[in-house]
Amino acid sequence: MSETEFLTTYLREIGVQTPVSLVRSGNKKSNIEESTAQTLPNVSIVEVEPKSMPMDEMDLASMAVDAMQCQRCGLAESRQHVVFGQGNPDADLLFIGEAPSSAEDDHGVVLVEHVGIMFDGMLKAIGLSRKQVYSLNVLQCLTPNHRDPKQDELDACSIWLNGQLDKVSPKVICVMGRVAAQALLGSDAVLHDLRGQWHSYRSIPVWVSYHPAYLLRSPKEKNKMWEDLLTIQKRLMDS
Ligand code: SF4
Repeated sequence: MSETEFLTTYLREIGVQTPVSLVRSGNKKSNIEESTAQTLPNVSIVEVEPKSMPMDEMDLASMAVDAMQCQRCGLAESRQHVVFGQGNPDADLLFIGEAPSSAEDDHGVVLVEHVGIMFDGMLKAIGLSRKQVYSLNVLQCLTPNHRDPKQDELDACSIWLNGQLDKVSPKVICVMGRVAAQALLGSDAVLHDLRGQWHSYRSIPVWVSYHPAYLLRSPKEKNKMWEDLLTIQKRLMDS
């Protein structure tokens, strides 16, 4: 899939309708904006200097376009795609995973292939679909050999994590897996100790659970994930 096709599909998947303003970051002319402008009718390209538009003034589509050119940390050199968040921009429930998997890096899409099927099954168990929630990773780019993210990478990428969180403004966050939980909560506690109690991130309630990739490897833990989803569902119903 070309960059143009990818971005066009991405914008449609997150529910962005044209006309849309695509923001050019940096001085380097990007083929993405120009070619996308040809394929999306009524698209206007707004030239801005780097960082001249505050994040809180960007919509998710503009943020995604900027993120796809991001060079804020060294992971830009080894990625295939920036894996920006996807789903309902007004979701009550937002899921956060760790860094993208190889499959996510290949597709440029969060939670794909077998992991995506497991995730969709989890959602279905509580009567939700992928289009009703928003999902993203703490890092938007693959790490070499799937190593844990480094703190400077997390710090650099927090602009995209927090930018998306601020736009979606969910009622509840479910953080999936040890790496994502430790990164989000600034803790070095193991998942077992973080799970089972409510935490908070930027004043949003956070529940720690398992990543669907782990549940594929350890299906016996699915019942614990089910308990977590029921806890989250109750919190959403009470809010
Ligand atoms: S991991 Fe985040 S900060 Fe680093 S290059 Fe990718 S999008 Fe940019």
